[in-house]
Amino acid sequence: MSTAEATEVAVEITDLHKSFGPVEVLRGIDLRVGRGEVVCVIGPSGSGKSTLLRCVNVLEEPTSGTVVVDGTELTDPDVDIDAARRRIGMVFQSFNLFTHLNVLNNLTIAQRKVLRRSQAEAEQIGLANLERVGLDGRESAMPNQLSGGQQQRVAIARALSMDPDLMLFDEPTSALDPELVGDVLAVMRRLADEGMTMLVVTHEMQFAREVADRVLFMDAGVVVEEGPPEQVIGSPREERTRTFLSRVL
Ligand code: ADP
Ligand code: MG
Repeated sequence: MSTAEATEVAVEITDLHKSFGPVEVLRGIDLRVGRGEVVCVIGPSGSGKSTLLRCVNVLEEPTSGTVVVDGTELTDPDVDIDAARRRIGMVFQSFNLFTHLNVLNNLTIAQRKVLRRSQAEAEQIGLANLERVGLDGRESAMPNQLSGGQQQRVAIARALSMDPDLMLFDEPTSALDPELVGDVLAVMRRLADEGMTMLVVTHEMQFAREVADRVLFMDAGVVVEEGPPEQVIGSPREERTRTFLSRVL
């Protein structure tokens, strides 16, 4: 990351709170992600990691606090959420492909409907991104003819086809058979190398160690510890972080 890029803030989250009824799931999160930065979020199940990601693209409405992505405050009630969300790609644990559409149509449908691209342009961009995830030649396949790892790579190509400024990944490899995890992580690693800004919830500690610029450990709705991976994963300061890592490593 160059100095100029490092000073550019892609995501700024300030004192974010989220409650579901009486339960406060996020209890004051502050997070800045620089342009081109890769931040991995780790932590036990139920700690609020998915809710945090979902607040970043406003799939969940924060109870209080602000979320700013590329200078647009998504928590501003007057903001055009659809326009802002268009610039944010999200990849989930479950691949969420349209099962009745072949790969190419999965890649083009949102480009055409949301970005109003022509069929020809959408296909060209979709095919380029299919190649980017190592699946060139598979555009006519139906999702159920692909492995889970291949489906997840199509989901990544679909998100990339929308030209996102920011990619959110929520445990993208957790539903995969172990032998399929590596190909998906390799695609994510390449994206990181290309300078994509990424916020990644993951249990893949090796990936976090090697790819993340920064790691956040969350527990019970707060960021307990954050820093470079060699510190947070390699020599954690907090007891809660150590306990978590001893379970997953
Ligand atoms: P994580 O991704 O770290 O496992 P989540 O963000 O999914 O954690 O969930 C944090 C807590 O919020 C959990 O206790 C979960 O049950 C609760 N929660 C998440 N979404 C909802 C919802 N839509 N309604 C009520 N409770 C929710
Ligand atoms: Mg989750």
